[in-house]
Amino acid sequence: MTADPQTMLILRGISGHFAGQDWPRGALDEPPALEHARLRGYVGEVLDVDGATGPNSRQVRMCVEAIRDRDEITALYGFSGGGYNIRRVLAALSADERKRIKLVVVLGAPKNPPALYSNGSWELVYRRDPPAGHMAGPNALLAELTATARRPQLAATLPDARTFLLSHRDLSLLPRVRVSAAADSNSSIRRVQQETAQPASPGSVRALEGSTGMTTFIGPPSQAIRNKPISAELKQVLDTAARAAGIDTIRINSGGQDALGEGTRRTGSTRHDRGRAADLQCVVNGTTLTFTDQSAHPDIVAFVTAAAAAGATGIGAGVGYMGDRTIHVGFGASVNDHSKLTWGAGGRSANAPQWLRDAAAAGWSHAPVLAGAAFQTNAPGLYAVVARDGLKLRGGPGTNFESEKTLPAGTELNVVGTSNQDPSWVRVDLGGDGLLDGYVFGTFLAPVEINANHEGAPEPEGRNVS
Ligand SMILES: [Zn+2]
Repeated sequence: MTADPQTMLILRGISGHFAGQDWPRGALDEPPALEHARLRGYVGEVLDVDGATGPNSRQVRMCVEAIRDRDEITALYGFSGGGYNIRRVLAALSADERKRIKLVVVLGAPKNPPALYSNGSWELVYRRDPPAGHMAGPNALLAELTATARRPQLAATLPDARTFLLSHRDLSLLPRVRVSAAADSNSSIRRVQQETAQPASPGSVRALEGSTGMTTFIGPPSQAIRNKPISAELKQVLDTAARAAGIDTIRINSGGQDALGEGTRRTGSTRHDRGRAADLQCVVNGTTLTFTDQSAHPDIVAFVTAAAAAGATGIGAGVGYMGDRTIHVGFGASVNDHSKLTWGAGGRSANAPQWLRDAAAAGWSHAPVLAGAAFQTNAPGLYAVVARDGLKLRGGPGTNFESEKTLPAGTELNVVGTSNQDPSWVRVDLGGDGLLDGYVFGTFLAPVEINANHEGAPEPEGRNVS
C-alpha cells in the first residue's frame, strides 16, 4: 500500500435550495463530512461539482477519473445525489480499482438499497435520513461516530426503526445515541421532498421513483405453457428488485403452471408451480437488457442482487440456457425448499455465469437486513402486523413521534401510502373507513392476500441444502 495519506473523496448532492439555503455547487453540510473522514483516518476532499445524477453525469465522470489518477483515493462518501452516483462510480471502476476502495459511505439515497453498493470488499456505511431531516445526514453520522467512542454500553432495542436501517456491517455502531428530534418545520420537509422529487436526468428519475408498485409487468403470454400469473410474493420481489435496479418493465415469457399432480398444463421442474418462478426479461425505456456469459448490463446485475436480497432463492441464466436476455427468478423447488441456488445451461449450478453467482451472493449476504428494511415496499393494500410484541402506531413518520397505541401482532390494517419524508414509514387506515389513523414502521407488516393461496409463505422448517 502507498504511504501517502489515504483520501476520502466526498460527493455532494444536487444543487438547489434546501433547508433554508442555496447550494449552487451541490447540497452538502461539508464540515461534518470532512470531520467524519478525519475520524475514520482519511484526508477528506470534497469533489467540487454538484451531484446531478446519472451514469454519465459530471460528478460520476470526475470521480472515476480522480480514482484512476490518484492511488491514494481509497474511500468514497456520497450524500443524496452523490450517494446515488456512487453506485454508478463503483460500476464504472475496474476490478483492480475497486479492490483499492476500502470504505464507502452512502447517506440519504434511500431509493438505492444497500445491496447496490455491496458488490465489493469495502466496508459499507449506509444511512437513510435521520429524524432531523435530509440535510442533517452528515451531522447525524458524525454524531453516531463520536457517540460510539464515548458511550459503548447502550444497546438498541426493538422495534426501533433506526436499528434496521443500518448496514449490517456496522451493527457495532447501532444507534447508541438518538439524534435529537429537531422540529421538522413544514418548509424543511417540503424542501426535502422537493429534492427527492426533482429529476436531474433520466438516471435520477429511475433512482428516485416513488415506492409503490411502479413496475410494469407484461405477460406471461396466453399461449405459453406456463401462462398462469406469478404469485403475489414473487411479484413483490420482482417489483422491489426492478425499482432498485431502475428496470421499468418486466416481461414474463413463462409464468406459473399447474402444480405437479393438479393439472397437465405444465413443463419442467416444479419451480414454476403456483407462480413461484418466472422466466423474465428486464426492459428499460423500451430496450431489453442483455448479458453474455462473461458480463451483464449493470442494471441486470443490480436486479439480480436486489431480487436475491428481497427473497428470491433460485436464479438461473446463461446464453446457452435461455438466451442472452431471459432470467429465471423464483423460490425453491417446493414451498419447503429454501436453498439458494444459481444455475446456467442444462440447469446446472456449475454453468452459472460468474456475474450471476456474484450478483446473487451479494444479495443473499445482505438478505437478513434487507428483507426487513430497505426492501420493504408496502404498496397500498391490506397488511397484517407481524411484530411479535406488536407495532407502535405513531402520529408521524419516525420514532420521535408520539406513539398513540400499540397494534397487537395479527392486526389487519390498510396501508394508504408511504411517507415522503422517510419511505420506511407508511400511513395507515385501521378501520377501512378511509380516515388516516397514523404511521407505522413498514418492516413489521406483511401483505394479506385476499383469496390467498398461502403456498408462497416461507416456512421455518425448510431444508437448507446450500
Ligand atoms: Zn424458469
